[in-house]
Amino acid sequence: MTSALRDVPDLTSHDDGVRTVAEKLAAGERLDLDDAVALFESRDLIGVGALADAQNRAKNGQRVFFSSNQHINPTNVCVLRNTCVFCSFARMPKEEGAYTRTLEEVLAEASRAKSSPTREFHIVGGLHPKLRLSYYTDMIRALRAAYPGVHVKALTAVEIAHLARIERCSFREVLAQLKEAGLTSLPGGGAEVFGRAVRMTIADRKLAGDDWLEVHRQAHALGIPTNCTMLYGHVETMRDRAEHLLILRGLQDETGGFLTYIPLAYHPDHNALGEEMGWQGRPTTGIDDLLNIAVGRLVLDNVPHIKTHWPMVSPFVSQVALHFGCDDVEGTVVYERVYHEAGALTPMEMAYDDLVRLIRDAGKVPVERDSLYHAVRTFD
Ligand code: SF4
Repeated sequence: MTSALRDVPDLTSHDDGVRTVAEKLAAGERLDLDDAVALFESRDLIGVGALADAQNRAKNGQRVFFSSNQHINPTNVCVLRNTCVFCSFARMPKEEGAYTRTLEEVLAEASRAKSSPTREFHIVGGLHPKLRLSYYTDMIRALRAAYPGVHVKALTAVEIAHLARIERCSFREVLAQLKEAGLTSLPGGGAEVFGRAVRMTIADRKLAGDDWLEVHRQAHALGIPTNCTMLYGHVETMRDRAEHLLILRGLQDETGGFLTYIPLAYHPDHNALGEEMGWQGRPTTGIDDLLNIAVGRLVLDNVPHIKTHWPMVSPFVSQVALHFGCDDVEGTVVYERVYHEAGALTPMEMAYDDLVRLIRDAGKVPVERDSLYHAVRTFD
């Protein structure tokens, strides 16, 4: 049963914090920092999930979006290889396994999706010390020419800032040139957790939180929509998580440019942080994965979509997440590398029909979308 006015379930939670949040939502009040901390600390997952599910259904009904996409990682060479201690993907230029694709190799890789026509290339990689902006603008132009109509979502804020440094220009100039080459949107990676103490511990030389926000602010000003993320499940506190979400919500109030929020689960294998802490083989739990989806939906009341990243949390948890406030599932992917380097045991791609089934079997209506959340195909 739900309250007619605000579509908030009448629930009797054993958790005072969850009851307070339910009352605030029913009264149309915005959640604050203490509410967000209380939700992250709650042991009433079902209560938090029911609230988030109601908020999601009020925004998106029974629709769940997915995309027919391809991940391309042009290089794993990264100047921060030894300082982002949570990363398993990066390599030094001469380290075993280091690679940098030529334009021809990227185009060859782009043709490998077989189960469905690709509608989006998702392109992220390391901070290569020598690759110039033209490497990326040439790549985007070539992909747009070879695959007309396919969207290109490329380069995290960290990569944009790195290119600005290399080219000795502003974030805005880099973004403008990428847009001119055919960039559709930016992915949300590199945000990690904005809190200074956390950043100093896991990524002390990475782009500062304020600069990550500035890149996204500039992108939004240029009409480039972006995604936002949080990497959870390492050294952060519940307050760090809550503050991170409120900072994202603040930028969204200002610009309205975020399309979706994606909580990213930390994987502890093959990286210095996991080894130092003895966390290998102990990724985040299903409860925490679902809680991060639900709290994201409740706190980020101004972000249209919440996405579950099945390569990180498993297709099973992603399916359950569709009842915890989530309306968007990571796509066909073909092939995911970044989290598999960190020990993810999930598949490296998912067939189109399997994605449709995953959503349908959750009792939802699958909607294939493009990068900008326009419906391409609806499976009523
Ligand atoms: S997280 Fe990104 S910036 Fe940091 S080492 Fe890995 S690839 Fe480089």
